[in-house]
Amino acid sequence: MSQTRVVLDESEIPTHWYNIVADLNNPPAPSLAPDGQPVSPEQMLTIFPEPVLEQEMSTTRWIPIPDEVRKVYALWRPSPLCRAERLEQLLGTPAKIFYKYEGVSPAGSHKPNSAVPQAWLNKIAGTKRLVTETGAGQWGSSLSFAGQMFGLPVRIYMVKVSYGQKPYRRLMMQTWGGEVLASPSNLTKAGRDILERDPGNQGSLGIAISEAVEEAASDPGTKYALGSVLNHVLLHQTIIGLEAKKQFEKFGEYPDMIFAPCGGGCNFAGVAFPYLGDAAAGDKRAQKIRMVAVEPESCPTLTKGVYAYDYGDATGYTPLMKMYTLGHDFMPPGIHAGGLRYHGDSPLVSQLYHEKLIEAVAVPQTSTFEAGVMFARAEGIIPAPESAHAIRACIDEALRCKQSGEPKTLFFNLSGHGHFDMAAYESYFAGKLEDFEYPTEAIQASLARLPKVA
Ligand SMILES: *Cc1c(COP(=O)(O)O)cnc(C)c1O
Repeated sequence: MSQTRVVLDESEIPTHWYNIVADLNNPPAPSLAPDGQPVSPEQMLTIFPEPVLEQEMSTTRWIPIPDEVRKVYALWRPSPLCRAERLEQLLGTPAKIFYKYEGVSPAGSHKPNSAVPQAWLNKIAGTKRLVTETGAGQWGSSLSFAGQMFGLPVRIYMVKVSYGQKPYRRLMMQTWGGEVLASPSNLTKAGRDILERDPGNQGSLGIAISEAVEEAASDPGTKYALGSVLNHVLLHQTIIGLEAKKQFEKFGEYPDMIFAPCGGGCNFAGVAFPYLGDAAAGDKRAQKIRMVAVEPESCPTLTKGVYAYDYGDATGYTPLMKMYTLGHDFMPPGIHAGGLRYHGDSPLVSQLYHEKLIEAVAVPQTSTFEAGVMFARAEGIIPAPESAHAIRACIDEALRCKQSGEPKTLFFNLSGHGHFDMAAYESYFAGKLEDFEYPTEAIQASLARLPKVA
């Protein structure tokens, strides 16, 4: 019988994260303040504590994982690497399909990989309270859990439409002691301004970020935590790929292609960057791996956006970052993969895509759910709708292998389970999901409002 899964021992949790900034061909473009000058550390320190900022700016290749963080990681890490043999048989493909399962964390996704170190670094820096935003609730629940591990209070601005539609995610946050507010709220100027103009506003991730950043900037004891996009978040997620490398060795296999869903880019970076590090160090096999970021057709940041300076939020409170963007006031349609509805993408992932070291593909919503259901029936695990994007792209490749007869080794990141997304599955089963390819004209209109940078 062939092997189904490789589980590592707790002692094999990596001791360091991998920082790809040490191996880039070109230095990353600096973030800019509204005046067009690079953001100063002093400005950043109003919302982030020093140890987090140090990681954000670091060019050191290997960064030690604090023991206290590894101890909490050990509650669910190392996560399993599995072979999806029943799915292979169902597809009749000569390809081998592997996936890393991040749904085993307490919050059910990869997001605690960064929430835990962020909470710890804030704790040692003397932060009194963390504030953040959440869309569908994955990040908010992860940070609530992480804050609770170290006795740090957490306040979460939750996009209003999700606050109503996802009561169980909200209750998870509350169970872990998090304080949850529907955004736009009247606690911040950003929220009040929007409610004044549009009292029925249902919120967006961009607005919720504005609220959280505003609050952090106005109180020295309060710091902000972001669940994706920034360098330190991607750094923390490399634990996924570092573990996977060890596990593939034990399987006696090596990936030809890597797939991951891409919203802000952190779980994609988590699986892909450690292999890009090997490639940079001259490993010929790693140089041949094709790495594919998978996004929804309705929010096609990499595949249809532009590489330009833009704000990270809707209001323009954050520094300008050079990234692929659909425009900061882009309003994504209400698709069922909340974690992939962000107008921008991580600057590091954007740069690698721009330099053609990685690839991207956009997939439609209904065939994404079709792939998710197929996977659940073959392998048992019900994937988060976000994760199902990677499954769709991986299945498409497995079917191409069937045509060509190529026995490729395919690897995707199963970034989370879908236990809190069953309403989305219900819509899919009822035939109520629609495919929505974002109209090019609407993207153009939003891009026309990009900030002007010299
Ligand atoms: C948040 C989320 C994503 C997308 O975020 P990235 O920063 O692109 O990783 C993907 N899958 C799940 C399950 C998520 O919760």
